[in-house]
Amino acid sequence: MAVDPEPDRTAIRLAERLIQLLGRGGFTATYKYAVLIGLMDLCLELTSATGVPPDMITTRQLAEKVIELYWPHCAPYGDMPRELRQTRVSPKSTGKGETQAEIIQHIVEFRRRADRNPAASLPLSRARVAAGPEAYEKLARLIEWKLIEMPISRLQIIGGEEEDRFLYEYGFTKAVLKSTVNAAQQGTSHGFDNRLLLKPGVSAALIALNGILRPLIYRNWALLVASMNGLKEPSLEEFLFGSERISLDPVRPRLRELQDNRCFYCDGGLGATCHVDHFVPWSRHADNSIDNLVAAHDDCNGKKSDYLAAAEHVVRWRARSSRCAGDLAEIARKEAWESRPERTVSVARAIYRMLPDDARLWMSGQRFLVIDRPRIVRALAA
Ligand SMILES: [Zn+2]
Repeated sequence: MAVDPEPDRTAIRLAERLIQLLGRGGFTATYKYAVLIGLMDLCLELTSATGVPPDMITTRQLAEKVIELYWPHCAPYGDMPRELRQTRVSPKSTGKGETQAEIIQHIVEFRRRADRNPAASLPLSRARVAAGPEAYEKLARLIEWKLIEMPISRLQIIGGEEEDRFLYEYGFTKAVLKSTVNAAQQGTSHGFDNRLLLKPGVSAALIALNGILRPLIYRNWALLVASMNGLKEPSLEEFLFGSERISLDPVRPRLRELQDNRCFYCDGGLGATCHVDHFVPWSRHADNSIDNLVAAHDDCNGKKSDYLAAAEHVVRWRARSSRCAGDLAEIARKEAWESRPERTVSVARAIYRMLPDDARLWMSGQRFLVIDRPRIVRALAA
């Protein structure tokens, strides 16, 4: 009996969007990770006694959560005299000699005023800081403003897309003024709505996926911080699971030739250098076999990154596999390269089939398209 599996659509849809969100690029600081973990923590913490998860959280609650999350990061790391950088912005570009994400800077300053002991806990520091509760209140308001100013409105933007409010709705715009928020924080005006309204099913799905998402977010966060600080930590993962270890150089010239020296994705002419791209991204399935490799511009390859390609590319990819089956097999034979066309297409079929109806697939540059499932299913049919 054939069984057509029907996974829980809300959770899958959310997971798929989050996978895209967690990818490289986008933010110049680690804020998106802090906001995501903050949201997950608050969904857990605010679940009612009868088990009903929250449908709303406030920017103030999120700010306190973000302070808590960054607190341990604000102590010196290892032998370093200071805390780790969590931004890519170089001192040159700010012109201020700052090399730290603003939110972290504020927390570090608060920590320094409160306690010289790098291991001091947040509650202890709050109790010890000279100015008492007012100093913490000031910090919380400032962080709340910083979150409103930037990460909250940027979190739901993937690539160069329009904002897609798949996690939460909110009532303010980018034009909101600090003075408006300040007045609301001090209770002197109601001109600012600090609620983040969680979309239906989101809090339940975040709780359900917590065990999977949390380690994934922690790992991405740690890897980003490692790269921002030039640390060696990612090398073990690269050694065990990375795609860089096997040089794709031997097949590069032959793939170019097969594609008439044109980029697989944009059809533009390939210059002196080009990349070999994994059509089904390495992050989804480790497959170096010849059918999964295409030659592309360095830039197209970089923009595609870990995203799945749109229907048009899938159609072209399948066409190449059938049209050039003989040539691909020949390249594999000559270079002693792996070639398992059936397996490669099975994997693509499995991955694309299970994508939610509103999955966005990479088209070009910063452009994404909603999945054209019928077209893809046809293209990937046996
Ligand atoms: Zn290109």
